[in-house]
Amino acid sequence: MFELAGVRKRYAATTALDGVDLSIARGATTALIGPSGAGKSTVLRMLIGLEWPDAGEVRFDGEPLQRARLPEQRRRIGYVIQEGGLFPHMSAADNAALLARTLGWPRARIEARLDELARLCRLPADALRRYPAELSGGQRQRVGLVRALMLDPPVLLLDEPLGALDPIIRHELQAQMRELFATLHKTVVMVTHDVAEAAYLADTLVLLRRGRIVQQGSARALHDAPATPFVREFLHAQRSLEECL
Ligand code: ADP
Ligand code: MG
Repeated sequence: MFELAGVRKRYAATTALDGVDLSIARGATTALIGPSGAGKSTVLRMLIGLEWPDAGEVRFDGEPLQRARLPEQRRRIGYVIQEGGLFPHMSAADNAALLARTLGWPRARIEARLDELARLCRLPADALRRYPAELSGGQRQRVGLVRALMLDPPVLLLDEPLGALDPIIRHELQAQMRELFATLHKTVVMVTHDVAEAAYLADTLVLLRRGRIVQQGSARALHDAPATPFVREFLHAQRSLEECL
C-alpha cells in the first residue's frame, strides 16, 4: 500500500529520517515503535504528504506522491494526530463532520454517518453535541476516530492514539480498537511507544531509532530474534509490577 524508498528528512541540524526503506502491507496493522525523537511521527506525516522527503520517495499504491494530488490523497487517509487535534471551538459532531461538509455531503447523510460511527466507536450520542473540553480523554480519542473514519478511507494513520489515557480506559480502548481493525479491514499504521500495545494491536512492528529502521517483523520475531542488542533493550525497557514486588 505504501513504500518508502531511501527517505531522508532533516530539520536544520536534526536528522529526523536517515534513509528509511519501508513497505507497508495493505489491510494489515503496522505499528511504528521506538524512543521519543526516533522519527515515528515524521514517517506518518510523510505518508499523508504533510512532509516531503529531502531525498528518496514515498509511494502510495505504487505511485509516487504528487503535490497536485494531495487533496485526493488526504481523503483516502484518516489521520488521528498526537493529542487528538480537535478544534476546541467546535462541537464533537462539527469536528467529525468538517471534511464531509467541505465536500458538500447533504446534512442527512452526515447525520446518518455520524450515528453509525458513534455506535461503532462506542461514543454516547449526546457526547457528539459537546465541545472537546466537555469530554473525557477517552471520549476525545473516540471523536478523533470518528472524524478519521468519516469518509470511510481505506487507510488509517494513528499517532499515539491512546497516549494520554489512564490505564483502565487505555486497556478498554485497546480491546475496542483491535475489534474495530479486525471488522473494518483497513490498512492501519499506528505510532506507539508501548511495546505491549504494539504487539497486541499490530501484525507487524517497525522499530525505529535515530531516523533508521532497526528491525521490522512480528512481535514474536523481534522478541525471539532481536537484530541488535538495542531491540532487546527496547522490548524490555518497561518495568513490570511483578519485578517490583
Ligand atoms: P517521534 O514521533 O519518534 O517522537 P518525530 O518524528 O516527531 O519523532 O521527530 C524526529 C526528530 O525530528 C526529532 O528530533 C524532532 O525533534 C525533529 N523534528 C520533527 N519535526 C520537526 C520540526 N517541524 N522542526 C524541527 N525538528 C523537528
Ligand atoms: Mg511522535
